[in-house]
Amino acid sequence: MVSELDSGGNVLNELASAGGAEVQANGEVRANDAAAGADGSETQEKAGKNGPEASQTTRLHRPPILSMTPEELGQWLEARGEPRYRLRQVLHWIFTQPVESFDQMTDIPKTLRRELARAFRMWTTRVLEHLKAEDGTEKLLLRLMDGQTVECVLLRDDKGHRTACISTQVGCAMQCAFCASGLGGFVRNLSAFEILEQLLHLKRLLPGKERLTHIVVMGMGEPLVNLKNLLKALELATSTAGLGISGRRVTISTVGIPPAIDRLAESGKPYHLAISLHAPTDALRNRLVPANEKIGIRAIMAAADRYFAKTGRRVTFEYVLLAGVNDRPEHATALANLLRNRTALVNLIPYNPVPGLNFRTPSPARVHRFVEVLREAGLNVRVRFRKGVRIDAACGQLRRRLAGGSAEGVPCEQPKPEEISSEYSLPADSHPESSPQMEAPCSESELSQPQDASVRA
Ligand code: SAH
Repeated sequence: MVSELDSGGNVLNELASAGGAEVQANGEVRANDAAAGADGSETQEKAGKNGPEASQTTRLHRPPILSMTPEELGQWLEARGEPRYRLRQVLHWIFTQPVESFDQMTDIPKTLRRELARAFRMWTTRVLEHLKAEDGTEKLLLRLMDGQTVECVLLRDDKGHRTACISTQVGCAMQCAFCASGLGGFVRNLSAFEILEQLLHLKRLLPGKERLTHIVVMGMGEPLVNLKNLLKALELATSTAGLGISGRRVTISTVGIPPAIDRLAESGKPYHLAISLHAPTDALRNRLVPANEKIGIRAIMAAADRYFAKTGRRVTFEYVLLAGVNDRPEHATALANLLRNRTALVNLIPYNPVPGLNFRTPSPARVHRFVEVLREAGLNVRVRFRKGVRIDAACGQLRRRLAGGSAEGVPCEQPKPEEISSEYSLPADSHPESSPQMEAPCSESELSQPQDASVRA
């Protein structure tokens, strides 16, 4: 795929300021402070390393069109004397039928197409790698304007769900002990348009009129550390002027940052919250999720309760099963005690091996026992469904491999995923509000890489 990135322009210099734009009275577009990730939120500042450029106000030659809200774009068009329906047409080409360049917006007058191309950048990302699995899962590695890369995944199921799994950061500061995303450290937050572009690239993989139906924010990074940009991106993803995906079909997965969980609840959006718990006690969780040391499970559970009270949406607790570490029946009992009397769903994820990390996946018998203990305690439990053959499966692995990291495809000693899921997953209708997308986050998307299926963009 040839994107606008290839067509010249000093993209590296532009990156620092390419986060937002505003329309001036004269209809010109001026970039504002919204550098990648500079949202100014407290959590973000703590984790962020956006650099001094991040707060610069820089005039951009061509801001990304996705940094404009529909209202701003409408103003820009109006300032050029365009009829009202033009906005709808342009938005259609961006969101419903994402094209490569403005030139392909065939029902827009040629002069306006040229003006759009002079004023805006259509894409800021391009596909570096495209992997396909036999089961329809597709994974993209995208190159950002500063040369960084992020992954996103399209998951298909036989119910017609088309789920986009997206990243919110380059790298991750959370440093969870078993996760590939943080291995190279944290680099930067993604801007809203970079998050949106992932969705558009994934949508472009769908044939004809097929639409994305679900979004899981389970790719690289900690979404709640980049909440402002994520919410901005989701606003367009869920609006009818944008991708039109129901907010109830969006799941945000987090290590659990209480103030940000509260902000998410207060946003009034119906998003589904998934908390990556992974351990029933602070002692164990501190080892697996270092961010826990300053937060603690108690505060996270309190925030989860407030989220449920405010939104009425059942919270999901994710639990990666690591052999000999957190998978004993005592751990299950402690987890059951922690979640008892809460409206919760437990999502068990047998560890997906990451090269260079010393964890193992529990045996099916061990997983079975864990599930039994939770079920006996009356909890809703799911074991995440896995498909296909794994290569670069966990999010962050493909990026690391291509960056020369250690993440090569590894022989798999895991239990057959199908065995686990068919034996233990509850029928879909026993979880009326749980999202089917919960079964397949990026880290669990199992991608095979047939010799000829890896295509260079
Ligand atoms: N920072 C967010 C999103 C991370 S990815 C969070 O922590 O929730 C989504 C899920 O995949 C998380 O629950 C994460 O713990 C899990 N995960 C990461 N690496 C994994 C691995 N190697 N095997 C299984 N699950 C993994």
